[in-house]
This record gives sequence, structure tokens and C-alpha cells, in this order.
Amino acid sequence: MATQETVESKYVYDFAEGNKDLKDLLGGKGANLAEMTNLGLPVPPGFTITTEACQAYLSTGREPDGLAGQIEAHLESLERQMGRRLGDPDDPLLVSVRSGAKFSMPGMMETVLNVGLNDRSVIGLSTQAGGNDRFAWDSYRRLIQMFGKTVCEVPGEEFEHALDDAKHAKGTRNDLDLDADDLRGLVDAYKKIFAKHTGREFPQEPREQLDLAIRAVFESWNAERAILYRRQERIPADLGTAVNVVSMVFGNLGPDSGTGVAFTRDPGSGAQGIYGDYLANAQGEDVVAGIRNTVPLQELEQLDKNSYDELLGIMARLEEHYKDLCDIEFTIERGKLWMLQTRVGKRTAAAAFVIAGQLVDEGLIDLDEALHRVNGAQLAQLMFPRFQLDHDFQPVARGIGASPGAASGKVVFTSARAVELAAEGESVILVRRETNPDDLTGMIAAKGILTSRGGKTSHAAVVARGMGKTCVSGADELEVNVPAKRFTVGGHTVGEGDVVSIDGTTGKVYLGEVPVMPSEVVQYFEGSLDPAHIDNPLVRAVHRIMTHADAARRLRVRTNADTGADAARARRFGAEGIGLCRTEHMFLGDRRELVERLILAAGEREREDALAALLPLQRADFVEIFREMDGLPVTVRLIDPPLHEFLPPLEQLAVNVAVAQERGEDVAKEEALLSAVRRMHEENPMLGLRGVRLGLVIPGLFAMQVRAIAEAAVAVTRDGGTACPEIMVPLVGAVQELETVRAEAEKIIAEVVGDSGVEVLIGTMIEVPRAALTAGQIAEAAEFFSFGTNDLTQMAWGFSRDDVEGAFFWRYLELGIFGISPFESIDADGVGRLVRIAAEEGRAARPGLKLGVCGEHGGDPDSVHFFHAVGLDYVSCSPFRVPVARLEAGRAAISTTGSDSR
Ligand code: PEP
Ligand code: MG
Repeated sequence: MATQETVESKYVYDFAEGNKDLKDLLGGKGANLAEMTNLGLPVPPGFTITTEACQAYLSTGREPDGLAGQIEAHLESLERQMGRRLGDPDDPLLVSVRSGAKFSMPGMMETVLNVGLNDRSVIGLSTQAGGNDRFAWDSYRRLIQMFGKTVCEVPGEEFEHALDDAKHAKGTRNDLDLDADDLRGLVDAYKKIFAKHTGREFPQEPREQLDLAIRAVFESWNAERAILYRRQERIPADLGTAVNVVSMVFGNLGPDSGTGVAFTRDPGSGAQGIYGDYLANAQGEDVVAGIRNTVPLQELEQLDKNSYDELLGIMARLEEHYKDLCDIEFTIERGKLWMLQTRVGKRTAAAAFVIAGQLVDEGLIDLDEALHRVNGAQLAQLMFPRFQLDHDFQPVARGIGASPGAASGKVVFTSARAVELAAEGESVILVRRETNPDDLTGMIAAKGILTSRGGKTSHAAVVARGMGKTCVSGADELEVNVPAKRFTVGGHTVGEGDVVSIDGTTGKVYLGEVPVMPSEVVQYFEGSLDPAHIDNPLVRAVHRIMTHADAARRLRVRTNADTGADAARARRFGAEGIGLCRTEHMFLGDRRELVERLILAAGEREREDALAALLPLQRADFVEIFREMDGLPVTVRLIDPPLHEFLPPLEQLAVNVAVAQERGEDVAKEEALLSAVRRMHEENPMLGLRGVRLGLVIPGLFAMQVRAIAEAAVAVTRDGGTACPEIMVPLVGAVQELETVRAEAEKIIAEVVGDSGVEVLIGTMIEVPRAALTAGQIAEAAEFFSFGTNDLTQMAWGFSRDDVEGAFFWRYLELGIFGISPFESIDADGVGRLVRIAAEEGRAARPGLKLGVCGEHGGDPDSVHFFHAVGLDYVSCSPFRVPVARLEAGRAAISTTGSDSR
């Protein structure tokens, strides 16, 4: 009869059994301790309990079957190796119990040192340490303190107070002045605190101490701060932590002992050299607690030349082995060096680029690997001006970091005032509750924009990002009173002309002026630094890696730009065309009056006059853009927003009319305007008369725009340039809409273009879910698709893009419904699926159909990888995101594993 055998999972690995690639199972610390052990480096022996054991414990609330036995077996083997038994009264083996997840979560989880000490083994430890009673009792009191706090939730301050009392009684402020007797007394005091809070004596059984400590480390995975950290860093919640049980080595055995941390290069700047701190006669926790001042690592050479030389040798070996910056922790116990930890070290954005470049020079990695080691978020950070926050600046409010950068200036509340003050050479910050298309001139004039309402895709945010201008939106602690020209926040009143500083990366708002530094990386992209003569190592590295990314990428990168100036800047940043020129701004300012005439036109004649007046203005706009983008494709989108956005607000108009009537003034014109605004008022304008619907309802509107585009293209071509216009129809949901627009447009184009050689493509945005789902039909009438992922996200989720981020996204993020706003990074499963379906069905119907994306996601690193994978031809993003998209498109092309530079 066959017996059913269950194979027991392996939950415990000796250090000699693991390696650095087993981070999923052994955590970062365990995998790297194993790697160092196998390299023959001096690692204190030990073993690792796997993340799978932790996951099993957390899901069932008890240790999985077999774990206890495996720990026992590995402990026995460790005891044999060390020639000591855990907690042996005469010659104890002591161990540390340390957490270590796959991704580093510094300080978020627990560690217990000196496990194995009790009332009897403390004497054995003293003997081991050559009769050093003080050391033994100090180690014991540390165990009770850490164990009490970590394992049994005894309030840490109680131990701190007892320690302070002991020092007070001794008349000192220094721990080191407490002698063995003082520490023995402190152990008694600590035990009483322990018993008071737990209702039991401090456990004397070493194995019980070990098991409880392991359990506490498992549980610390779900400590509140660990959960928060994971959410912030986007670390999955179900990974669990491994637990490392390591034989103790002591850095606090006297002046020939000590502990330190080191980096193989400067993690701040990437500069080569040795960076680290050393503290003689101390344990690791003393360094962290900052009780005594460390000395630079270089001074170890005088204190202990042998250990220093050995350490330098090991650091060089680790760098060569890991082919990257390593950070390490070490301890010297009576002149013997021990490696307690290594890992590929965290670094600043600048250091990431510099080090990747250096490692290529040193022949340790190739350029593909260098490209893997950096990411778009780091590049974006390097492109913003930064505040020099070395002084004591405290934020007064925090909103959403809507468009990164740092800006200081005088507060203004209206667009007109922003323009006036900027013309006088002042830096201004435009403060509004929210912005609308009317604020555009003020936004252009301002150094930064601050709103009290709206999220990351609010008008202010989108427009500011497009301009590369700093913006903090949704700072809802601000009470903004535009008519009174002031805002209040936290008891302060800020009026026009007062100076504030806003940080568009963190969303923080400061009163007064915080000094700002420009970005050298932007100067390089703008062409003011010649790459051949760059001596700045950061700029050199950026240049080299960007060149490689450009060579590697398949995706083209275009920009969203509506003006010649934006187009020119984006081109310097490497844009290969315009993916979205929103024509709506061309209906503002002086042209508003023409739009009013268009809307109010009583008859065909008046409407045609208004359109005829707009035509040359539009043509001039396009000529400027085609010139700047000479030879490159320019996608011009026909007007999208509801026309009543260009009229005065209903309430304001109603009040004006009522007041004027009261005064007996002639209000015929205002009344006509008011009745038009009333007629056009919509409850849900985003789902109303906009986009292609507008083109089908207002005769001649799209025709005028098509004509202006075609005439501009012909004019530029006749002047010797090359214009490549692509006309894009917004908000299409059915092929019939597109066919109607197309039929009219084709006639006009044929008439205007004649034999000029200009070729005009006609395509559509895919931003209504129905369009995505009927893409096969729509492709019959479209030469290209451009995914409008802002509207597509809005309509797929049913989230109003102007409201939800400020209103309730915080709760969705808190609940983990999504890890990041779907307006920021593409929701691959839902919205992304619509993109995928449309791409596949569109291309099936029309092979070679050109596909791009022009929603905000076009400049988001993760989304760029998604669009690469879906097979789009290009992404289009705001000018300042162009380098980021180029870099990520390169990374996507060489990546088999996706974005891995965490
Ligand atoms: C979009 O919807 O993604 C888009 C690019 O258009 P807009 O943001 O102008 O609506
Ligand atoms: Mg849209």
C-alpha cells in the first residue's frame, strides 16, 4: 500500500546554503550574509528563517509545522560550530535575532541582541570576556530592555527612565560611567519593570527567549510604521520578513573593539573613496542612538591598522563582486574584524547616475546595465530647481505636489496682476482657489502656482506641468479670498505682495523666501552646456546614459505643446514631434470676443464672419509651431472643451446684468450673453457638448481649424520648410462621428493643399471607452490613434478628473484599492486593457496604424514601460518629461524584467 508522504518545506537555511539571489526567500540581509559567507569573508556564523515561514505564521497565527524542529537542528549545528551552547551558564553562545525583508525597510522592524543571557550565563559571559563584569551586566540589561520592548511591548521609556535614574544617582550623564554594580542594579530594576508590565518574570530559558524573539520579528512585519513605510515605497504587503539568527560578536569589549558603517563610494555625490564612521568600544545601536560621536572611518587606520587594511580589502572585493556601491556594517571584537551586513547601497539621484557612469568606466558593467541602474524618477528629480533648506524653514501648509520644482515670489491673486508684476521684473506666485483657462497668461507670467483646490490632473496641475512650472494644488488649509486679495493659513494672513515659497515636489508651502538653486541637468538639456567639455561628473554621466537610452529605445517620444516656445524647448529636450497641440488656448485673450460672437451669432452670416476673423489668427499659431517642429510630425487636436468655458461665469454675468438694469443701462448685449450661457449650461460639462460633438453642432468651427492647419502647412512648405500635420479629432465614441468630420476635412485639405506636396493625416483620440471597444471600426476612418488616457481613466473608472484626487483618493490609497492614483500611472488592468484592445483591434483593421498616447501617462515611468509592451509607436508628454520618457523608453527596450531600479 502506498503511503502518502508529505514533504516538509525547508524553512531554515544555514548561511553557507544561501546566496545573494535568494532575496525573496532569505530577505536582503540573509541573502547577502550567505553571499559573504560563501565568498570566505569573516561573517559570524548563523542561519536564516525564510520569508515563507513568516508568511505562514502571519496567515495562521502560529509557527508552521516543522519550523521548531528545523530551528533546533540548525541551532545544534551552530553550537557545534562555535563550540558553545546557547545560554550555557559557563560559556554561553549568544545570538542576535534580526529582521531582514526582501527590500530594505530601515529601522521599521525589530532586532533583539544578546539572546541567551540569563541570571547564570551573565556570569559565564563575564568569564569569557576575561572577567569583564561590567560588559556582561551591560549586555544583560540591553537584552531585557530590547526583549521587553520588542517582544512584550513594555513601554521603552520606562527602561530609559530607569537608566536615567541610575546615571542621576551616580552623578553622571554618560552610560560609560556606570560600573558593574550599577548595571547589576539596573538589571534588577529592568526585571521589575518587565514583571510589572507582563505579569511574569523575565524568561530565563534561552530557547524560549529565542522562539519569542523570532515570533516578535515575524509580527513586526505588520507594525504600523512598517505598513506605512511599505505603502510609501510601494513594497507589496504580503512578502513577509526573514529572520536572521547570528552568533553575537561584541564591539564593546574594550578599546580594541568597536563598530562601524561604511560605503564603498559617497552615496550622496557618487564620488569614489571610502565613506564611513567608526565608534570604538561600542555596539551598533550606540552608533544609531548617537550617544557618542563617531570618528571618520579613516581614523581606524591609526587605531587598528590590521583591521583597517582588511576592511578596505573586503570593501574592494565586495564592490567588484556586486559591481555596485555597497554599504556595510562591521564590528571589531578584540582586533578581529567581523562583517555583519552588506547590501547594494541606497543613493541619491545624482549618485545613481554618477556611479553608473563610473562603473562603466571601470569595466564592471556595460551601458545596458548602467541604464538599468537609473530611472526616470531620479532624472526628473535632477531636473528641478531645488530649495536650499539648510536654514530652519517650516512649512505652513501642505498640498499636492502637482508640478515639481521650487519657486519663491510675491503673492498675486489675479492673472492680470501676475502679468503686471512679472513685467516689472518681479517673481510672482499666482494663488487661486483653482485655475481656469483664463488664468493662462498669469500662469505663464508666474514663477509658480498655488491652489487650494484640485488634484494632480486639475487645470492648474496639467497646465503647470506642461510649462515645467512649479505648482502646488489642493492646499486645502489655505482660505483663499480673491476679492480681498489675501489668504489665511494656520493663523497667518498673507496679502498681495507678501513672499511665499512653494515646493512642487513635496507640496509644501513656506512663508518668506527660501533660496533656490537651478538644475545643471536642465542647462545641459537646453544646450547651454557642451557635452564635449563637461567637467561636471553628473552631467557627463547623464549625457552618456541618455545617449545610450536613445540608441536602445523603440518608442518615439513626442511632446504636448501648444506654443512655439514650448515646441522649441521640447525639441531641445529631444522631442521628436508634437503628439498633442491643444488648440483651446488659441481661443482666449483677445480672441475671446470673437468666440462670443461665434456663440451669439444670430445667423449664418455672423457666425461665418466670426470664424473668418479667427482663421488668420489660428493659421499664424500653426505656422509658428510647424516652423519650430520643422520636419517632425505635429498632431493638432481640434477644439475640445465646451465653448461656454470661454464665456464669463453664469453667476457673475447674472449679477452684472442685474446691477446694470438697476442703473437703467443698456444691457441688450449682456442679456444675450447671459441667455446663451444659460442655454449652454451643463451639469456635467466633461460629459457634455465638447470635442467632436461641438464640431458636429457648430457649423464651420472644425472646418475653420482644418483650413488654418492646412494653409499653415502649405505656407511653411512654400517657405522651404517641411510641415507634417496630423489632424486629431477629440472625444470620438463612434466611427460615424469621425467619418462625418473626415468627409468635410478631406475636401478642405484637397482644396488647400493642391500640389504643394503637403500631406495631412487625419486620426482620432481614443479617450471614450466605447471608442476603445469599437477600435476596429474606428480604424477604418483613422490614420492614427492617440490614447487620451486622462479622459479614458475618467470614463473607465467614472472618476471626475477635477475632483476625486482631492476628495477621496487619500482613502483609496489608505485602503490599498490602488497603490498610486490611476491618473498618475496607468491602471494596467482596467484602463490599460482598453488601450490593449484598441491597439490590437485597430491594427488588425488597419495594419501599420500609427499609435501613440498623449494623456499625462505618456511621461510617467511605469506607464512608459506599459506602452512599450503594448506596442505603441510613441508617447507624448509635457516638454519637461521628454528626457524622462526617453530614458524610460530606453530602459523598457533593454529590460526583460521591467523596471527594477528601486
Ligand atoms: C486626455 O484626455 O488624455 C487628453 C490628452 O486630453 P485632455 O487632457 O485635453 O482632455
Ligand atoms: Mg481628453
